[in-house]
Amino acid sequence: APIDKSATIFVAGHRGLVGSAVVRKLKSLGYTNLLLRTHAELDLTSQSSVDAFFAAHKPQYVILAAAKVGGIHANNTYPADFITINLQIQTNVISSAFKHNTRKLLFLGSSCIYPKFAPQPIPESALLTGPLEPTNEWYAIAKISGIKMCQAFRIQHSFDAVSAMPTNLYGPNDNFHPENSHVLPALLRRFHEAKVNNVEKVVVWGSGMPLREFLHVDDLADAVVFLLENYSDMEHVNVGSGKEVTIKELAVLVKEVVGYKGEIVWDSSKPDGTPRKLMDSSKLAGLGWEPKISLKDGLTDTYKWYLENVVAQQ
Ligand code: GDP
Repeated sequence: APIDKSATIFVAGHRGLVGSAVVRKLKSLGYTNLLLRTHAELDLTSQSSVDAFFAAHKPQYVILAAAKVGGIHANNTYPADFITINLQIQTNVISSAFKHNTRKLLFLGSSCIYPKFAPQPIPESALLTGPLEPTNEWYAIAKISGIKMCQAFRIQHSFDAVSAMPTNLYGPNDNFHPENSHVLPALLRRFHEAKVNNVEKVVVWGSGMPLREFLHVDDLADAVVFLLENYSDMEHVNVGSGKEVTIKELAVLVKEVVGYKGEIVWDSSKPDGTPRKLMDSSKLAGLGWEPKISLKDGLTDTYKWYLENVVAQQ
């Protein structure tokens, strides 16, 4: 059902990759009453702060895009942070939203909730059918708990909480940290720096063989608003592009987009992670939504954003 454009919508995590894209999307659709708080203004890991915020502002809708996120290296290095912070944020926000009469909440997870050896493409029903990929199980366990909390509040209290599980995302406001980021922003930065510094070789981690699916975050934001307006059910919904590439193909594409002329070398001492991670997004397609941004176009757009917003600020 359409939502009143003046409804109060709390976008938790509005400075992040996902939250900032959701804010752009909501604004472009004419939503006028967005509630936004920076980390400094509202600590989402503090139950008392979150509850006081909900008591004071009573947001009608909540999009929970705040999380501690990172790539394969960050997950391996900070497992305690990944599990604790994510459990705290989602428990605080979901329970306060229910308590203060939020009409609907949309929780965002990730494709890493699925078992390491799930059938490919991965349907929603693969959840909790096998062991997780060990390199990100801490984050995954927290996100699985978030889905289950949404379901539990729906069962016990008829609270309209839904969950969306995006595939690997990229776009403006991504984390371009050299070690702790995900592969796509890491490679954009590494190829860019190699180009401007005339470095002859760029090191890419692993074997190049793993397959990954990428979705531009503006497509995800479009899907999030679509689900907020049109979906109210127990089961979480996959949001993917349906297109997968090997890490090697990704590296070659990033190299082209950046215009780097040197060589790619592979560091096989770095982990590959899960061999393949393609989501089955047919459920969302059946609801009437499809992605629009190709990987090539999305990469070109993200590189432009990186040049204008990261490089230009240095
Ligand atoms: P994952 O999808 O959860 O495994 O997370 P990542 O985005 O961190 O890694 C995806 C794949 O890209 C893995 O096989 C990595 O080994 C590979 N990869 C290659 N180069 C890099 C890099 O510079 N940074 C990261 N994070 N991954 C890389």
